[in-house]
Amino acid sequence: MILIQHALIASEESPNLLAADVLIENGVISRIEAGMAVPEGARVIDARGRVMLPGMFDAHVHFREPGFEAKETIATGAEAAINGGVTGVVMMPNTSPAIDSGTVVANVLDIAKRTARIPVYTSGCVTKGRHGKELAGIDGMRALGVRMLTDDGDTTGDPAVLLRAMQYAGELGMFFASHCEVPELAGPRALNEGVMSYRLGIKGSPACAEEIIIDRDIRLAHAAGAHIHIQHVSSKLGMETIRWWKSRGDVKVTAEVSPHHLLFRDEDIGNFDTHYKMNPPLRTRADNEGLLEGLLEGVFDLIATDHAPHTPFEKAQDFVSAPNGITGLDTALVSLHHHFVDKRIFGWDVVVKRYSAEPRRLMGLPEVSIEVGQPADLVLFDPDVETTFTADFMKSKSRNTPFLDQTLKGRVDVVVLGEKVLLER
Ligand SMILES: [Zn+2]
Repeated sequence: MILIQHALIASEESPNLLAADVLIENGVISRIEAGMAVPEGARVIDARGRVMLPGMFDAHVHFREPGFEAKETIATGAEAAINGGVTGVVMMPNTSPAIDSGTVVANVLDIAKRTARIPVYTSGCVTKGRHGKELAGIDGMRALGVRMLTDDGDTTGDPAVLLRAMQYAGELGMFFASHCEVPELAGPRALNEGVMSYRLGIKGSPACAEEIIIDRDIRLAHAAGAHIHIQHVSSKLGMETIRWWKSRGDVKVTAEVSPHHLLFRDEDIGNFDTHYKMNPPLRTRADNEGLLEGLLEGVFDLIATDHAPHTPFEKAQDFVSAPNGITGLDTALVSLHHHFVDKRIFGWDVVVKRYSAEPRRLMGLPEVSIEVGQPADLVLFDPDVETTFTADFMKSKSRNTPFLDQTLKGRVDVVVLGEKVLLER
């Protein structure tokens, strides 16, 4: 039995916080009221001044296992999630071997069950080996509970193959998540095409390389009657394309935005800093503003980090050779607090809705909220103290993040999942 006293409870319904004590019995929230007497035998956590949030859920993470365990494993990725107040994730299938059959899915879910302290779900490839040619083993993956199909890391090249997959898997209740990029336009996939690419003398990837496929894949979903989810949108016009399709109401389209695309831009690359290198690339201030507008309007259903660990050795290469991606799980919640909630750009309700509730809805998972009768799945967040993201603080195996050694306002203090306290600082 755990009694959490004096918490300020957040929900997706309202920016206002409810001050109350929360009692957890057998892993379930059994009472919520102010000034509760301490039941005999209860472990007491004093949450005075701290915000209680439902556990976050990240629908876009790269845990690198099997195949790239030097970057991350399912176990270390899950610990990074807990460190950042995230209690559930969806893995991307660009591992080695790629997650493109029931056999690989079974292997990954088995590792997750043995080594991760939070639920880890996986998506599956649209095409075998993510090569864009032949359909992956969709039935076998569906039988093991896979719902999201994606060739993330790349666009599914052949639109006829993607259309066929949509016609087929849509009927099985699966949906498609698209990494949007025309490879012929993207050049070496190093950075945005603009002032910065010109200054650094590297061929940039124009926003239209992304926007063309956003539109193409929604059109294909429209034709097939499938549900399409657009991943990590980085451009304002991309957001507007999704907004237009959503306004029509005749295709099921959802979309995500990452904290880094909201917060950073290509100029931050400065002197070839590979911690600002990701795909899609950071674009411009106008794109940051457009993406925030899309988040506040609900064009973006969810926030997802695209947590993409790489070793220091890999990221230390020259800018074009270094791999794309940054980690996000250790830092996302604190960075959203520091840059948005604390500055009153949006409230905790937006964080709960977009980074906890909606991603679970996308995956067809049960609701997680702080209400009597719900399983305990919650985070205590202290908005008044700071976190310094030192290498030691990070639980991800990799430290490739622009937040490395930065100090931001807010700290994830406690994570409770069921009967277990997974984190207590
Ligand atoms: Zn991607």
